[in-house]
Amino acid sequence: DQIWGRAGVEGRRRDLEAREEILIRTAEQDPLTGLANRRGVERFCAAMAPGDAVCLVMVDIDHFKTVNDRFGHAVGDATLREVAQVLSSSVRAVDRVARWGGEEFLLALPTSSVEFGAEVATRVRRRAQEHHWEELADGLGLTLSAGVACGPADDLTSVLHRADAALYAAKRTGRNRVVTG
Ligand code: GH3
Ligand code: MG
Ligand code: MG
Repeated sequence: DQIWGRAGVEGRRRDLEAREEILIRTAEQDPLTGLANRRGVERFCAAMAPGDAVCLVMVDIDHFKTVNDRFGHAVGDATLREVAQVLSSSVRAVDRVARWGGEEFLLALPTSSVEFGAEVATRVRRRAQEHHWEELADGLGLTLSAGVACGPADDLTSVLHRADAALYAAKRTGRNRVVTG
């Protein structure tokens, strides 16, 4: 009886642990794209060693509202999923890609090199421009703007602020471009 009881408790404990892991993963994941969400990327940066640098690339789809307006919300959703794929396939295994908000994505690159960040952002921008979006919907095209900034991973707010400011500079100066902050 005792043996069975202990095995039962142990099994139940493992069960709860597995469920907890699923809950954490779900809470940190964007359901549409399967990417990390804001919470996920925040934990990714928080888990970095104190003093480590991170380069953030804030990516925003240009005129995405027009995609929804012209092709409908379903094509808009499919476009977001495909943008997620373009981003994910353009970074290293040590990097993290997140859906930051509606049509905004964040790349978190563990590096202090803003040149490296700009290189990744430019690759992503080019690949998006050359992507065969017309396979999703006839006449569909798309470009991305990005803002890049590097700084200490334990001061995410300030790095984010600079990446965001750089993104807005990219928008202001004509879109489909990368600006470093
Ligand atoms: P800009 O170049 O200045 O970024 O213009 P924009 O049209 O991309 O930006 P705006 O903020 O005006 O519009 C963002 C659009 O993104 C509006 C909103 O409906 C759409 N959007 C946000 N989240 C989703 C989503 O989950 N699915 C779909 N289909 N559309 C979304
Ligand atoms: Mg946009
Ligand atoms: Mg936006």
